[in-house]
Amino acid sequence: MPISRSFRLPKPTDSDLPSRRRLLAWSTLGAATLASAALAGCSDSSGSKNAAPQPSDGPNDSFSPAAPEDPSAAAGLPSPTASSTVAARTKPVYKVHDLLPNAPTDAIALTIDDGPSPVYTPQMLALLRKYDIRATFSVVGSQAHANKALIKAIAADGHTIANHTMSHPQPFSKRSDAQIQAQLADAQSVIVDAGAPAPTLFRSPGGDWSPAVFAAAAKYGMVPIDWDVDPRDWSRPGVPHITEKLMAAHPGDVLLCHDGGGDRSQTLEALKSVLPALKSKGLTFVTL
Ligand SMILES: [Zn+2]
Repeated sequence: MPISRSFRLPKPTDSDLPSRRRLLAWSTLGAATLASAALAGCSDSSGSKNAAPQPSDGPNDSFSPAAPEDPSAAAGLPSPTASSTVAARTKPVYKVHDLLPNAPTDAIALTIDDGPSPVYTPQMLALLRKYDIRATFSVVGSQAHANKALIKAIAADGHTIANHTMSHPQPFSKRSDAQIQAQLADAQSVIVDAGAPAPTLFRSPGGDWSPAVFAAAAKYGMVPIDWDVDPRDWSRPGVPHITEKLMAAHPGDVLLCHDGGGDRSQTLEALKSVLPALKSKGLTFVTL
């Protein structure tokens, strides 16, 4: 099914526009292609994140984007972001309460990246359903386009869907401004086209941020989200390692796991014990 014109977003201003031809080309991408692109996973190369709470950035940031052009509005077509542009930040969200100050004090957020995967996402959804946990899925646009039913299933189960670019290029911040914007816009289009609400959250591949990435997220109405508990499950370090890292989560932490980009059987096996154990410790799972 071709991408609906009605879901097109404001266009970047230079030659690297998200084109229908290019969007359609994503449908020809095989899982192996994405797997190779995403095998590096979301973890940053340093292996650790600044876990200190980061204050929210106000509207006076120096990276405030220009008002987006909105040709679809002029044409009377719906635009998922026309009224949702947000102020650009200078830091992503690392902690639950950075984004959700009124969340329970014992709240933690599980984020699940690089899917949807026809193999692992259904298993992840079943596991989350078993323990009555809602999570935040950072989906890759090409995967969303190839697995629309899974996007619907994620949304139907009450999980939040975040934009994780169209093809997960790394290092993301080294792309041109136009390429960065196109990655966000294309993913936003296919996620909405698959039947999910327009994401209001953006996660950069590898947690790789720059002023241009923050500006693009703001332009398309998304808050940048990062993480502070990283079991590096994408590298398949073994179930005990993943379990140990996740079990060290504290109230307010944002946990990173993966359901796409490769073999995620270790992740699933670890979560089978970690999810009920964290709940029994009194932590409350929330979506971002
Ligand atoms: Zn990723």
